[in-house]
Amino acid sequence: MLKELAAGGALGLLIFLLFQGYDVAPLLLLGGMGVVLYWLLDKKGMLTARSYAPYYPRQNISFEDIGGQAAAVQELKEALEFLRRSDQLHSMGIRPLKGILLSGPPGTGKTLMARAAATYTDAVFLAASGSEFIEVYAGVGAQRIRSLFREARCLARRAGKNRAIIFIDELEVLGGKRGSHSSHLEYDQTLNQLLVEMDGLGTGEDTQILVIGATNRPDLLDPALLRPGRFDRHVKVELPDREGRLEILRLHTSNKPLGPDVNLESIARETFGFSGAHLESVANEAAILALRANSPVIRQKHLQEAVDKVMLGEKIGRKPSKEELYRLAVHEAGHALVAELVQPGSVTRVTIASRGQALGYTRQKLDDAYLYTREHLEGQLRICLAGAAAEDLLLGNRSTGSLNDFKEAVRLAKVIIVSGLSDLGVVDEECLSKEQMHRAAAEIIKVQEKKVGELLLQHRDLLEGIAGRLLREETLKGETLRSLLTTGARAS
Ligand code: ATP
Repeated sequence: MLKELAAGGALGLLIFLLFQGYDVAPLLLLGGMGVVLYWLLDKKGMLTARSYAPYYPRQNISFEDIGGQAAAVQELKEALEFLRRSDQLHSMGIRPLKGILLSGPPGTGKTLMARAAATYTDAVFLAASGSEFIEVYAGVGAQRIRSLFREARCLARRAGKNRAIIFIDELEVLGGKRGSHSSHLEYDQTLNQLLVEMDGLGTGEDTQILVIGATNRPDLLDPALLRPGRFDRHVKVELPDREGRLEILRLHTSNKPLGPDVNLESIARETFGFSGAHLESVANEAAILALRANSPVIRQKHLQEAVDKVMLGEKIGRKPSKEELYRLAVHEAGHALVAELVQPGSVTRVTIASRGQALGYTRQKLDDAYLYTREHLEGQLRICLAGAAAEDLLLGNRSTGSLNDFKEAVRLAKVIIVSGLSDLGVVDEECLSKEQMHRAAAEIIKVQEKKVGELLLQHRDLLEGIAGRLLREETLKGETLRSLLTTGARAS
C-alpha cells in the first residue's frame, strides 16, 4: 500500500513539474537509480524482515508415517512430553525443553520426524534451512533469526495454538563452531542471535516454542549450541536395518498396486545401506517402470530394476565393442562365481548392462551386521579381486575395469589392519607410516589374489559357462546363476 502511494505521488509530482516547464530528466534518472537500489536490497532481504519466508507444510505427518525408526521415534516422543505437559512442568518449576537435535545420515527421515512432532504436540510448524540465514551482508542472518521466532509466535496466535515448533535443517551451516568461517563475523552474529532467542524462551510465554535442529555433521556444531538449556536432547536417526527397510517399503508401496509376485522382504534384504529417501525412490521408480511397461501392477522385476537404478543411476545407451562386452562378461562372471562360492545364495543379480558409472555389476544381498571377522573381510576381498583374476585367467591380461574393485580391496585390507586383525597384531594407526600401511595392505591383498586365482582355475568351466550365458542374456538373476552352478554350466 505504502509503495503504491509513493509511486502515485512521484508520478503526480513529475507531471506537475513537466507542466511547469521544468527539465525532469535528472529526476527520472535519480528515481530510476533509486528503484534499482531498492530492488537489489529487497532481493537480498536487507530491507524488511518479512522478505524472508519460512516454510509451512500443509499436509500433516504423524509418527505412523515414519518407518524403521522405532528407537528414535520413542526417544523423540519422550522428549516431546515436556511440551505436551508444559503446565505441569511450570508448576513443578522444571525448565522447559528448548531444543532437540536430530542427527544422522541424509534422507533418514529427520524432517519427517520434526513434522510428526508438530502433529503430536498440536503445534504450528515452521521450517527453515541453516543456509537460508547466511548472507555475505553482516546482520541479515541475525535479523532473519529474529523474524523467524516472531513469525512462529504470530502464526501460533493466528492458528489459535499455544505451541510452535521451529525446524532448522542443516543446522551445522548456521551453528558451526564460532570463528571457523572466513566471513566469521556474519556467521557468529547469526549463531549468537539464535542462542539469544533460545535463551529467551520461557515457560511463562503465551506461545511455547521448541526448536528442532537437524544435522548430518553434529561434530561441526558449536559447543554453545549443545549445552544444557539449548539443544540438550540429542536423538540419533540411523540408517534403517532390514526390518526397518521392510517397514518403509510397506509404507511407500501402500498406495501403489502390487502384483502377486512382489516380495518386499527380498527387496529389503537387497537394499543394505539404503536410507528412507532411497527406499521411497525405489517404490516410486518401480511404479514408473511398471507404467512404462504398460503393466497395471508393479512386479518384482520392476522393483529390482528400480533398486539398480537408485543404486547406480539410469541405464546408458553406450554400447561397448564385442571384445569389451566379452571382457565385461568374464569380469562379472568372476565376481558372481566367487561371491556364490564365498557366500552361497548371496548374489541377486549380475549384469553387463551399463548404468551410471558402472559398465556391469554384480549385486549381493548383505546381512545387517555390525561386526566382521577377518575371515568375512577376506572373503569380501576375494569377491573384489575376482573380476581382475577372471580376466587374467580367460583373457591373459587385465583392464582398467578393475579400478574401483582395487580401491575397495585396499579399503578392506586397511580395515583388517587397523582393527588389529592382521599379522601385525594390534597397531596404533597413527604410528604406522604410509609405507608400512601400504606394504601390509599389499601383502594381505597378494595372499587373497593368489587364493582367488586358484579358486577360479579350479572352476574354469563354470566361469566360462557363466560368462557365455551373460554375453547372450545380458542379465542373470541370482536363481539362474545358482542353477548354472548346480548343473555345472558349460560354455556354448
Ligand atoms: P536430510 O538430512 O537430507 O535433510 P532427512 O533426514 O531430513 O534428510 P527427510 O527429508 O525426512 O530426510 O526424508 C526424505 C524423504 O524420504 C521423505 O519425504 C520420505 O518420503 C522418505 N523417508 C525418509 N526416511 C523415512 C522413514 N523413516 N520412513 C518413511 N519415509 C522416509
